[in-house]
Order: sequence, then structure tokens, then C-alpha cells
Amino acid sequence: MDKREEQARRVPVWRSLQTKYAITYLVIVAAVVGLLNTYPVMVSQTLAYQSKQTALQNQASVLASALATGPEALTQESATRTVSLLLGSLGVTRVVVTDPSGLVLCDFQEGSQRSDTAGQYAMIWEIVTALRGNDVFRSEYKSGALLSRAAVPVTYRSMTQGAVYLYEYDAQQGALLQGIQTNLRTISVVICLVTAAMGVVFSKALTRRIAQLLRGIHTVRQGEYSHRVTMRGGDELSRLADEFNELTGRLQTTEEVRRRFVSDASHELKTPLASIRLLTDSILQADNMDGDTAREFLIDIGDEAERLTRITEKLLTLTRLDTAREIHTAPVDVKTVVERVEHMLTPLARAAEVKLELSLQRGCVIRATEDDLYQVAFNLMENAVKYNLPGGTVTVTLERQGDQVILQVEDTGVGIPEADLPKIFDRFYRVDKARSRAAGGTGLGLSIVRDTVLQHGGTVTARRREPEGTCFEVRFSAWTEEGGEKQ
Ligand code: ADP
Repeated sequence: MDKREEQARRVPVWRSLQTKYAITYLVIVAAVVGLLNTYPVMVSQTLAYQSKQTALQNQASVLASALATGPEALTQESATRTVSLLLGSLGVTRVVVTDPSGLVLCDFQEGSQRSDTAGQYAMIWEIVTALRGNDVFRSEYKSGALLSRAAVPVTYRSMTQGAVYLYEYDAQQGALLQGIQTNLRTISVVICLVTAAMGVVFSKALTRRIAQLLRGIHTVRQGEYSHRVTMRGGDELSRLADEFNELTGRLQTTEEVRRRFVSDASHELKTPLASIRLLTDSILQADNMDGDTAREFLIDIGDEAERLTRITEKLLTLTRLDTAREIHTAPVDVKTVVERVEHMLTPLARAAEVKLELSLQRGCVIRATEDDLYQVAFNLMENAVKYNLPGGTVTVTLERQGDQVILQVEDTGVGIPEADLPKIFDRFYRVDKARSRAAGGTGLGLSIVRDTVLQHGGTVTARRREPEGTCFEVRFSAWTEEGGEKQ
């Protein structure tokens, strides 16, 4: 692949799997960290508010009951006296006591009495609410401090005599909350940074393996079928690599078969063509060739041309079998087809002094095409005659065994050596080249038989026949009118 093509194929960083993985990773962790960040802060704030509320409201209630001593109304003096007495133990920032109309009776801030508010109406929301008979508490976290306010009514026998208001500015609690927040934030930032780094590293490791697979696919695509991808890990990606290697292996085998077939085919076609060329040259170069010799040469040219035709016809048949095509099958009576083949081969058998013996059972019907079945029977029976010896016999048996229809073609001929038996169905494979050629063979007949039989769901096998000769056996599923094809 040239550089430009490779660059065009490269996935941009922003669309790469690595970026997508890293971002997903980061988003998930950021969400979790965000949650962990807010939850403890909220909980600690609530806890701080609650403890503050209890403490401040208790203090306010204690002060209110200390003020409500009798039916007489609260005065500036009595309020100031009581507050001064309890101020030390209260420990709050501000204490305000009002009468029932909201008029400030005393106002202590940070231990000393404020004079600016005395005799004025307290315009504080908490006090107004307390005077209506309700306890109030409000707390907020502001500028690093916890600000809390509480107000309760001063009641004596359900008579509101005034209100007590406490205010506390707690910088210590605030600092504690602030500390928790700052620490959590720092930890979160560190976690996010570590996660981002880890996300990049992990996703890089993952995408590196995908990139390795992609490179493998490119290499194979360019025709290097021997290339294999090694991927450890035992995960889905290594399974993918195994599958890819398996696929490439098959591709390699198919490619090898194809190459061998093309080279064998061209070799087979070259031989008759070379003979034709030689014969025509001989005729052209001979000055005074007599008519009989010239005629002999022309007959030879005709024979070679016929051989070429035979080879190309068979090659076409094989190509047709190779391409996935729709075949329109129908029930075919095998006996009728074999009898047609016998009729066709009788002159050849007579010339070769070979006896044809048929033992055909009735009712052997299979689902196929008549032409294909004819081709199978013809090739097997023709071979049995061709590779026979004068005085020999060809026995064809057809019978039904259970769900199967079995066609056997036996001969008493030259036989096939055990070592060649597994190869005789290969294209262009011939045990005895000279004999095959002399008999007009192409080495394609048995390949056609095997491919055709397989296409119709059958099987074909060859074995040595004792004491001599060969036996070919073809099995098909029987077809019955009631049940169709039985498997
Ligand atoms: P061919 O056109 O050469 O006959 P086939 O594919 O039909 O090609 O057969 C392949 C080879 O198998 C033949 O060349 C022959 O050597 C061997 N062969 C096939 N049938 C028989 C048989 N009945 N007896 C002996 N040899 C056989």
C-alpha cells in the first residue's frame, strides 16, 4: 500500500476508537467522582446543621424559660440581668430579647451590650416568627463560616411575653466543612488525572491490537495468503485473530487450488495445440508430400482439435459446477438413465472386447437433474470400459438399501494403485498419463463426477476390487412419492 493510500485509510484521532474509549472512561469516572464529591459534603453539612440546630434551640429554650418567671411582663432590667447571668454559658455571638411587640429589651453582641438597638423594634424575620408562637432555626454556610440563627417565644402559661433570638457565627465548623470540600476536590482532580492517563494507556493497548488485526487484513488483501496474526490474551480479539487465520488458511488453499488448476489447464491445452502446430508445419515444409501422408496428418490434426474440444467442454462443465447456480431438480429414475448410458457405450465396449453386465433394481428414484445423473453414470462406465482389458467385464449394479440408492460400477481392468486412490478425483489427475491420453482421457471426468454428486447431496468412493480391477460406488438419498427425499 502506498503512503497516500495508507494516510487516507488512517482514522482521524477524534474519530478513533482510542479517543472514544478514553472519553467514555473519563466521563464515567468523572460522574462517579462528582457524585462522591457532593454526597459527603451534603451529608457533613446536614450533620453540622442538625447538631447546631439542637444546640442552639436548646440554648434558646433554656434562656426563654429563665426569662418567663411569672405573669408580670418582661422589662429591660430583668431581661438584661438574666441574659448577663447566662451569657457566659451560652457561648453565642449575639443574643436579642424583645417584648411581645418586638421592641428590643436587650441585645448582646460578642459579650457586650449594644446600645444602638435598645428601645427599637427588632426587624428580624426570626423574631417576628417567634412572636407568632413558632420556634425558628436557620443555618447557612457562607464565606467559610457556619451562620446559625434560632428564635423561640418567651411564654408563661401560654401567654407570649416576648422572644429570644440567638445568632452564632461558627468559623471552626465552617473551616471543617471547607477542609472536607477542599480535600475531596483535590482527591477528585487527582483521580480524574490518573483516570485520564490510564484511559489513554488502556485504550492504546486495545486499539494497538485492533490495528495489528487491520494490518494483517491489509497484508492478506494484497495477496500474501501465508500471513498469520499472532494475538495472545484468550479474549474476543484473540478469537477474532484465530478466526481470521482460519479464513486466511482456507483462502490460501483455494488460491493454491485455483493456481494449480489454471496451470494444469493451460498445460493440457498447450499439448494438443503444439501437436497441431507441428503437424501443420510438417505439411507446409514438405515439398512434395503425397496425398495419403497429408491426409494422415490432417486426421491427426482433427483428432487433436477434438481433444481440445473435449477438454474445453469438461472445463466448462467444472466451471458451471463451481459457480453457485440454481438447479431445478426433479425425481429421476436411475435405472432408465443407466440403460441410456449402456446403449451409448455398447459400441465402445464391443470395440474394446469388454462385456457390459447390468443388474438394475426397479424403483430407484432420486432427486436430481437427468443430465447430471447421465454425466455421472457415463463417466464411471466409460472409465470402466476404457481402463479395462480385452475379455474383461464391467458390472453395473443399482439397488435400494433403506433410504439410499446405491450405484456400483465394477470392472476387471487395470486397477488403481492404493496410493493413487485418494487423488483420482483431483482435477487433471491421471494414474497412467499415456494410457489416459491414448484412450482420449482428459483427467477431468472423475472431478466432474465428484462435484456433481456432491451438488446433489450424494457421495462417491473408489476402492480396489479383489482380485483385480476397481469398484466405484455412488450413494444418493432415495426419493419417495409419499415422503419426498429421505435423508
Ligand atoms: P480420464 O479422462 O483420464 O479418464 P478421469 O478423471 O475420468 O480422467 O480419471 C482419472 C484417472 O483415474 C484416469 O486417468 C485413470 O488413470 C484412473 N481411472 C479412472 N477410472 C478408472 C478405472 N475404472 N480403472 C482404472 N483406472 C481408472
